[in-house]
Amino acid sequence: MRHALRLTSASGTAKNAPRMNVCCTHQSHCRLCLGRNLDLVVKLEPIPLASHYAAERAAPADDALYPTDLYLCRDCGHVQILDIIDPAVLWEDYAYRSGQTKGILDHFEAVAASVIARHHPPAGSLVVDIGSNDGSLLRPFKRRGHRVLGVDPVRYIAAEATASGIETVPEGMTPALAKRIVERHGPASVVTAFNVFAHAPDMGAMAQSIHDLLAPDGVFLFEAQYLLDIVDHVLLGTIFHEHMSHHSVAPMQRFLARHGMELIDVERVSIQRGSIIGTAQRRGGPRPVQPSVAAHLALERERGLDRPEALQEFGARLGRLRQDMDRLRAEWTRRGATVAAYGAARSGPTLIVQFGLGGLIDCIFDDHPQKVNRFSPYHRIPVLPTRTLMERKPDYVIILAYLHARSIVASNRAYLEQGGHFVTCCPDVRVIGADSAPPK
Ligand SMILES: [Zn+2]
Repeated sequence: MRHALRLTSASGTAKNAPRMNVCCTHQSHCRLCLGRNLDLVVKLEPIPLASHYAAERAAPADDALYPTDLYLCRDCGHVQILDIIDPAVLWEDYAYRSGQTKGILDHFEAVAASVIARHHPPAGSLVVDIGSNDGSLLRPFKRRGHRVLGVDPVRYIAAEATASGIETVPEGMTPALAKRIVERHGPASVVTAFNVFAHAPDMGAMAQSIHDLLAPDGVFLFEAQYLLDIVDHVLLGTIFHEHMSHHSVAPMQRFLARHGMELIDVERVSIQRGSIIGTAQRRGGPRPVQPSVAAHLALERERGLDRPEALQEFGARLGRLRQDMDRLRAEWTRRGATVAAYGAARSGPTLIVQFGLGGLIDCIFDDHPQKVNRFSPYHRIPVLPTRTLMERKPDYVIILAYLHARSIVASNRAYLEQGGHFVTCCPDVRVIGADSAPPK
């Protein structure tokens, strides 16, 4: 099924032009291989920018919805969004800090310990983290005696990290920056890019930079949410504009090879309910290729991840979930039920739009300091502190922070005991009362 590509003009940026024309560009080539043999495999509703929780209820004139359809590159198998938001707009309200989540900090500790035990970077050698955020991944390396350097284009986060003791260059990673780093600090024994490959608009420049940064015996590690887990666990909430790529092993192996690197290991981890950590070295590096690489390539072939049918089936499952939610919505409207939501995560606007919940939800409960007492993107649903759940006691609370469904239900037993209900959207649409089994 070949789809005629829409082309959104990036020109015509007259002052009063709709924002759509200003900051959303439809790319016509694959982000990994630059091929143009692209199939639309999952059609989705356009969504607002997921991080833009607003201080005012009044919607600004330029608040808009942007496409997030998924495309498959028939040349290399990479699955991606082609509608790209201007990074200056996309990241202007970026509130995420790795160090705010205990589970992420524990994960980074384990990663640093494993890299040192398995790859033996020399004591005092350089570790560079791309998209280093608040420096959380570098801290365990620093504690173990390595020199560390962060790179992150979000200036105020980079400044915070530097002030807290992790020197961070406030720029995007480019070959020119890689050259400057090597000249000043020497080559890196370890380069990491955790959950940033999905964000990079120019993957070729990123890969070239990593290659140039690496010492001949250095290792590069990347973590990305895994396409197979997105499909298997219906991780719909991960599809928003910051995630331009949905990675699998085969396209990444070919991509790294084109940039002079060799994938030597793949490990699946439970972060974000299903991610991979890939390890690579410069071509001809000293480490053997582990059997895990061939095993993942075989698994992906067997599951047909490089063919449209597997992704189209994912789209069909989403359609069935939407029908389930439509039925619930009709019942709630008929009975005049009150409905709220839980979790102002970045998955929220995606789920609200894809399940048609915009006009239904009265409020969203969340305590995040950068979300509470603000308003959700586009629909302008107020975000209230979680303690108000027991004051308002809505009949149904839809869980938008879907990765945390179990802990949200477990920590709000009192609401359920008093007749309330939680509702999950994915991997299944399910109403949970006081006597129900916990969510998946
Ligand atoms: Zn491609």
